[in-house]
Amino acid sequence: MNSIQTENQITTNTLNKHANLTTYGWSEFQTNALQSLNLKDATPARVLYRNRNIYHLATEKGIINGALSGKYQYEHDLSDYPVVGDWVLIEPKDDLGVIHTLLPRKGKFSRKEAGMVTNEQVLAANVDVVFIVTGLDSNFNISRIQRYRTVVLEGGAKPVVLLNKLDLCDDLEDKMAALRAVLPNEPIHPVSTFTEEGLESLAPYLCEGSTIALFGSSGVGKSSLTNALIKSSVMATGAVGETHGKGRHTTTTAELFCLPDGGILIDTPGIREIQIWCHEDAIEAGFEDIAELASTCRFENCQHKAEPGCSIKHALKVGTLSERHYNNYMNLKREARFIEAKQRAKDRQKDKVAKKDRPRQKRFDTVCD
Ligand code: GDP
Ligand code: ZN
Repeated sequence: MNSIQTENQITTNTLNKHANLTTYGWSEFQTNALQSLNLKDATPARVLYRNRNIYHLATEKGIINGALSGKYQYEHDLSDYPVVGDWVLIEPKDDLGVIHTLLPRKGKFSRKEAGMVTNEQVLAANVDVVFIVTGLDSNFNISRIQRYRTVVLEGGAKPVVLLNKLDLCDDLEDKMAALRAVLPNEPIHPVSTFTEEGLESLAPYLCEGSTIALFGSSGVGKSSLTNALIKSSVMATGAVGETHGKGRHTTTTAELFCLPDGGILIDTPGIREIQIWCHEDAIEAGFEDIAELASTCRFENCQHKAEPGCSIKHALKVGTLSERHYNNYMNLKREARFIEAKQRAKDRQKDKVAKKDRPRQKRFDTVCD
């Protein structure tokens, strides 16, 4: 009992110690990570913005510039470099923060770079909530929302569906019912950034320390929503804007903002345009109910077609699994396969071009023979 109390006390003390950082999302997760590293005098900071090798860091004492230590650069691949949203440990040196350590990530969103070597490019880390934004106009597309949901879950965040342009919609109930049928458990919020209807329902996500990102195709209203969330608050635009001298919407690089009502918004072009292709495995993860059913089929490699003892076929027949939900799952799998095949073909093409452009190596081997 005593030891538990002591442990809790340590956690609380360490949380208090970094209280200024809770506005930027410092939580028990980071406290625990720090404790497990056993670094007593570490100075934590959150990456707000990165421009090549220059980092903008939120520290307890304000926003400073930072750079990776030489040792860090030497020992790590580019894919392990801190990105917007990451927590790092720094050593203050003059006015600069020298970054020595990347704290473990709660989750991350990345893009796979196509080419000779498939590199992972991490776009943002430690996102808690993703608003999946869709228009209630002709943009409305259920399977796209499902694909985004899968990506959000894979990145370790909570998906929240925002149906924007409510002012343009006269069949909300039908659309909600169709969406509910495939996403029975996700929060869905119809909103309009024009009339501001429904925006108040987002308040619970904008609590202190919660990091939010927006996904959605072009034209669905992400910028409008970002502006609505930021309002015209000086705090939101000033804190980061001042340090790199650029206005809020003229910037094209990654950024992290504190919202006036609490919460932190990560708004980067990369994150906005995150590719929603994902591996078949990730789709399985987004349909736990089907995966669970399939695991009880008699044959491990059951294709759910005509095999005896197929739980999926049975559930469809007795109606415990909705036909629509299952078809959606099958369509997503088919799409994922198709997109992956296309990506592979593209990669092969790129490799071919890269090979052709590579300077020819001298054939020393033949000389040495
Ligand atoms: P983004 O590409 O996702 O950032 O979308 P924008 O925020 O730039 O919005 C795209 C277009 O949709 C703009 O012309 C907006 O004025 C419009 N728009 C955004 N929100 C709403 C809304 O709630 N209702 C209506 N009718 N139009 C909206
Ligand atoms: Zn089966």
